[in-house]
Amino acid sequence: MIIVPEREIAALMTRDAAFDAVSGVFAAMASKDAYNFPVIREAIGHEDALYGFKGGFDKAGMALGVKAGGYWPHNLEKHGHINHQSTVFLFDPDTGMVKAMVGGNLLTALRTAAASSVSIKHLARKDARVMGMIGAGHQATFQLRAALEQGRFEKVIGWNYHPDMLPNLEKVATEAGLPFEAVELDGMGEADVIISITSAFAPSLMADHVSPGTHIACMGTDTKGKQEVEAALLARATVFTDEVAQSISIGEAQHAIAEGLIKQSDVHQIGAVINGTHKGRTSEDEITLFDGTGVGLQDLAVAAKVVELAVQQGVAIEVDF
Ligand code: NAD
Repeated sequence: MIIVPEREIAALMTRDAAFDAVSGVFAAMASKDAYNFPVIREAIGHEDALYGFKGGFDKAGMALGVKAGGYWPHNLEKHGHINHQSTVFLFDPDTGMVKAMVGGNLLTALRTAAASSVSIKHLARKDARVMGMIGAGHQATFQLRAALEQGRFEKVIGWNYHPDMLPNLEKVATEAGLPFEAVELDGMGEADVIISITSAFAPSLMADHVSPGTHIACMGTDTKGKQEVEAALLARATVFTDEVAQSISIGEAQHAIAEGLIKQSDVHQIGAVINGTHKGRTSEDEITLFDGTGVGLQDLAVAAKVVELAVQQGVAIEVDF
């Protein structure tokens, strides 16, 4: 069995490798070569923690396994560890024997950023120049860094519920050599691409804040009750997602579905666009929206890549198990 500790991931995994792994598994999901298992998420009644499992099997990439972990809200203050903790376990699909144990914390941020990047590549207008960000927390910086590699962006604009966090976005924009401007939500009309990644339970971005032709990646809503954008925006947009079942139950589409504004058949798999079986964006004025809920197969895909890189670079720890 191979162990790749969390401390090794940053030096091993690149944004390009994460992009390819996530794009490949989205394509495999759409062609039914890969499927996710039902998600388990439990409030365990200890330390206010939420713990769960996301797993799946990708027959195309031969990745079988599970990401186990969750959210321990007091970790930082009590123990000096980050609050989100996860580990990926990979199994041999031929034998069921455990193959690898991989630190999942940084990988989660990289695979989540890769998902919105895949959506930008396939759904944003090619002449997109203004990148808009809603959210400025831990994930937002990964999202922005990856997104800026998907186009010829000239400017970043940002809004956050807690404005004191906006310098996090400015730093990433500056590193990429781009100007950053803090805006009000109605200023988002200038953006050609918008990523929202917050932990909000009420919408910030309203349908009227968005201009025709914009691509929006909603990445924060991954639980029942969370919401980042007005449900009416989904009715105005062509909606894509990683996994339809998750989108309509725990993703952004849960609200538009509940309000009767869209139907399940209005939500399309991004993998179908990658595979060329869905045409994706069809006009310059169309609003496209990617509801990125986060699936276990993304975790397995990036973990499998990390194991390959760790073995190649001689940093994999092998244990007899
Ligand atoms: P974080 O705590 O670092 O940042 C939270 C962000 O949400 C900040 O920008 C904060 O200002 C904002 N926010 C807090 N309360 C708000 C409110 N009431 N209204 C609007 N904005 C508010 O968290 P993070 O690690 O960056 O995660 C952000 C979200 O992304 C979480 O909801 C997390 O569950 C989700 N997430 C999704 C995926 C996926 O695959 N889709 C993966 C990882 C994390």
